[in-house]
Amino acid sequence: MRFEIITIFPGFFAGFFEHGILRRAQADGLVTIGVHDLRTFTHDRHRTVDDRPFGGGEGMVLKPEPLCEAFQSLDIARKTERIGDSRTRVILTSAQGRPFTQAIARELAKLERVVLVCGRYEGVDERINELYCDQELSIGDYVLSGGELAASVVLDATMRLIPGVLGNEASGEFESFGVADAAIFTDEAGVPRSQHGAGGLLDYPHYTRPAEFGGLKAPEVLLNGDHQQIRKWRREQQLRKTLANRPDLLEHAALSDEDRRILREIAAGKAEKTP
Ligand code: SAH
Repeated sequence: MRFEIITIFPGFFAGFFEHGILRRAQADGLVTIGVHDLRTFTHDRHRTVDDRPFGGGEGMVLKPEPLCEAFQSLDIARKTERIGDSRTRVILTSAQGRPFTQAIARELAKLERVVLVCGRYEGVDERINELYCDQELSIGDYVLSGGELAASVVLDATMRLIPGVLGNEASGEFESFGVADAAIFTDEAGVPRSQHGAGGLLDYPHYTRPAEFGGLKAPEVLLNGDHQQIRKWRREQQLRKTLANRPDLLEHAALSDEDRRILREIAAGKAEKTP
């Protein structure tokens, strides 16, 4: 899979590409990334990429011509000429965009090429959006100074879902916002998984050695090897965390009758926090 990033700050991405899963995914040839300096596509002495907004008001706007040339150099035609090409998607990072979610990341991970346009200043001339961009994505309800962080977020969340990128193929399905997948019953170690497929819930808390740290013990249930108990505990923790931090997710989560009973108990303050 290939990502193309169009930016006025290509240097911004250097460190980001060189770490962890993303570095390995590139080394393994699963992901390639092209970073394109928007100023390359200007023709004046000052390499101007912005101009004053029509109608007045604050700030500057990224001009359409350099972006248009950048698309041409990447062989990306206007939307109307790309109908039927479902392998490429051109994304405009924008605070006005649709919220970026794990579901969108899963969708993008199936494509061959994702093009990320990084806005700056007050944003990008809207005609670029109309003519070239398939989707406007926002990474949250706040305003950043540029689209580079947003592009990094979209790239990171997407590339880790590309088959082969994560060590354990299934692990993307069992974390926060994962898809419910009752069909998968055990993981590599034989631990039953069907109940703790996240099903649209937040992940459960994780612990590693030492068993006691800072005066706190890791939950006993995780140490005793009873997979049934572990599964139950993890599911309850997921419900607990989701109820506390993101109750909105419960509306769409795949919940069993047992889950609903646990939720009622948690809400009534009855369920034990840790066994
Ligand atoms: N005037 C715009 C903000 C421009 S911020 C507004 O009020 O909506 C400059 C650039 O940063 C944007 O063009 C976009 O590319 C990026 N950006 C800012 N906030 C963002 C967000 N929440 N998600 C994605 N991109 C964002």
